[in-house]
Amino acid sequence: MELYNSLSRKKEVFKENVPGKVSMYTCGPTVYHFAHIGNLRSYIMEDVLEKYLRYSGYDVKRVMNITDVGHLEHDADDGEDKIAKKARLDQLEPMEVVQHYLLRYHKAMEKLNVLPPSIEPHASGHIIEQIEFVKKILEAGYAYESEGSVYFDVEKYNKDFNYGKLSGRNIDELLETTRELDGQSEKRRSADFALWKKAAPEHIMHWPSPWSEGFPGWHLECSAMGTKYLGDTFDIHGGGMDLMFPHHEAEIAQSCAALGHESVKYWMHNNMITINGQKMGKSLGNFITLDELFTGENAVLEQAYTPMTIRFFILQAHYRSTLDFSNEALQAAEKGLKRILQAAKDVKGLKVSAASAEVAKEVADLKENGCYKIENDELEKIKEQVLNIL
Ligand SMILES: [Zn+2]
Repeated sequence: MELYNSLSRKKEVFKENVPGKVSMYTCGPTVYHFAHIGNLRSYIMEDVLEKYLRYSGYDVKRVMNITDVGHLEHDADDGEDKIAKKARLDQLEPMEVVQHYLLRYHKAMEKLNVLPPSIEPHASGHIIEQIEFVKKILEAGYAYESEGSVYFDVEKYNKDFNYGKLSGRNIDELLETTRELDGQSEKRRSADFALWKKAAPEHIMHWPSPWSEGFPGWHLECSAMGTKYLGDTFDIHGGGMDLMFPHHEAEIAQSCAALGHESVKYWMHNNMITINGQKMGKSLGNFITLDELFTGENAVLEQAYTPMTIRFFILQAHYRSTLDFSNEALQAAEKGLKRILQAAKDVKGLKVSAASAEVAKEVADLKENGCYKIENDELEKIKEQVLNIL
């Protein structure tokens, strides 16, 4: 089997680390709102890959994180935690928000026939592991403490490794344009990213650490939990292309800094889903959740679609191509799926006709006699019989 590795930008023959076993890490949801169709493509691509690997005889261990802390607004280092903000707005405990959306996420995945992962670790349940990971990066000299927070030193790291090799970003340019910080920031460069953040007094999710009462940076959980459950080197890491930078680039940097080598052998990224040719976004008014797709309750939708129609629609395109979502495309997928299911049913009910049985016997006789040479008139006879059957 060959896999396209986003890191080398080419197809590579798949060779597992431990014979017969595949270790796979896939980035999971940040559970502060309903899952939407933009997220869905990764889950379906990874599910098909996992099922194919199992079908091919591998034991697959797949780990998918649940982000329930540390993912700040706009994927940045500043701003409110997405879960904490939702909890504040809805006047709930952060863990009530997590529970609410996680249950709905699980239900939707079951409807879509997506296998649950082998392990589904929560970021908030692995604070100790994340703190230990930060310590390793600090000891290796690729991070610095500032005002109770710890930041990854991108410039220092880039001297020994290559920051930007996954996403193709030009790090010199990035460092050059971000050199002049306003002096207000705790960070040395704006390209640096948080490993640990000191919590502001009003921040409701925080834990003790050697540096401050605070919370982990978003990228850290995947490095810490991936290596905890899959080992220092594992086979496949999957996710959407939108996660390549900064999330996966930061994951590579954290693991290389802490362990001295890469953790992941094959990086796989799926392309995005657009809606009527447009990027999907809450502000664009074309944001569709999975539950809305199943019920049809969204102004963009002309009807409800079954989970299998949606799954079939997503699988019609190559996972690395963009896929445009529209009612017409979904309705075509609905028809296509019906045709396939009907054909599968019809095939089961088909009886072997006398004529086709005769052709089969003739072919078997010819094979048995070791004679594949068919005289012209015989060939004509067989052709005629085949045409009759058709
Ligand atoms: Zn991740």
